[in-house]
Amino acid sequence: MKAVCWYGTHDVRVETVPDPAILNPQDAIIRVSATAICGSDLHLYDGYIPDMEAGDILGHEFMGEVVEVGREVKTLKPGDRVVVPFTISCGRCDYCQRGLWSLCDNSNPNAWMAEALYGFSGGGYYGYSHLFGGYAGGQAEYVRVPFADAGPITVPDGLSDEQVLFLSDVFPTGYMAAEQAEIKPGDVVAIWGCGPVGQFAIRSAYLLGADEVIAIDRIPERLRMAEAGGARRLNYEDTDVVEALKELTGGRGPDACIDAVGMEAHGVGPAAWFDRAEQAVRLETDRPTALRQVIQACRKGGTVSVPGVYGGFIDKFPMGAIFSKGLTLRAGQTHVQAYLRPLLERIANGDIDPSFIVTHRLSLEEAPEAYRTFQQKEDGCIKVVLSA
Ligand code: NAD
Ligand code: ZN
Repeated sequence: MKAVCWYGTHDVRVETVPDPAILNPQDAIIRVSATAICGSDLHLYDGYIPDMEAGDILGHEFMGEVVEVGREVKTLKPGDRVVVPFTISCGRCDYCQRGLWSLCDNSNPNAWMAEALYGFSGGGYYGYSHLFGGYAGGQAEYVRVPFADAGPITVPDGLSDEQVLFLSDVFPTGYMAAEQAEIKPGDVVAIWGCGPVGQFAIRSAYLLGADEVIAIDRIPERLRMAEAGGARRLNYEDTDVVEALKELTGGRGPDACIDAVGMEAHGVGPAAWFDRAEQAVRLETDRPTALRQVIQACRKGGTVSVPGVYGGFIDKFPMGAIFSKGLTLRAGQTHVQAYLRPLLERIANGDIDPSFIVTHRLSLEEAPEAYRTFQQKEDGCIKVVLSA
């Protein structure tokens, strides 16, 4: 089959590789119909995540048709059309049972290594380095889906691929970011980053009752899309963001602040990883960052929600502000499984049509060009869908 393989920083190639096979009785094999490139894939593309190996298959946002199931799979059968959450979860461990699906104790065989090397670990994710399980990703014609009864959701034929594909990640991620921001009716919410995660966070904040959303980015097309979603826009390149937010909120600051940017904006790259942390901190002092602004801007007693991905040591962390202002800080990989059904329902009943996010449609073979365009944020690119 054809698959998008990682070979190093800014080097992805479409190659012919062996088809995946059932390895475990709870596996399913999916023929991929559509797959997207995520801001999280850019961390791999930019070389920000360690423990990638040449030839690793990328991709964690995908959907398609079930073509084979292992003998213990009960809820899926060949022919089913499914969307697959990027979080691989057993469904049985204590974390899964508590609804903390992205922290599954059984899906990351390399968790011990991550713990030993970096002092933290998470669950297993598709196409996201050996640190997170070393699973082959879904930017391919076929993919093996472990724990097939605890992840994929079947989707109705009446909804197009582009309407449901983003249930795999960025719609639940934006939604959980807004939910973790503890939005109450009447709240003002500020969101840094108008990539796909930020766009879904904007719309989710309104679905959850926000009175006003203020969106921060620098890219005109992204700010325009944020405005189309009902947000007031701020360009961080020509505005003092923290001051502007104060002015817009009667001097108080927003009730909730969401960092949908992540570590790439910090300009430290791989230096953020442990033993080079000192260098990371030094670079940060010259460069005020989204994360620090988020904490500075939030009103007393407010909530900071961080869906943006961070690794290692980032920023001179303003712990004093968090403490003195009594802020609540929430972060983490999305517990996608928890949101699949409720958000599919919202799509089906017309609350939201996630296909608004798609700006570029290419074939799997065109992945190298697609990665370049999305990384450069050229040509108005906000979300790329590759059809396999
Ligand atoms: P993206 O790269 O398309 O978007 C990031 C946006 O942030 C860009 O539009 C960029 O211009 C903007 N930005 C950069 N610096 C900024 C600053 N100082 N202030 C305001 N905006 C700034 O990525 P995306 O797909 O939207 O993902 C966003 C983040 O969410 C990434 O870190 C990604 O890894 C993460 N993510 C997390 C989860 C999760 O489970 N928590 C899931 C998916 C993605
Ligand atoms: Zn993603």
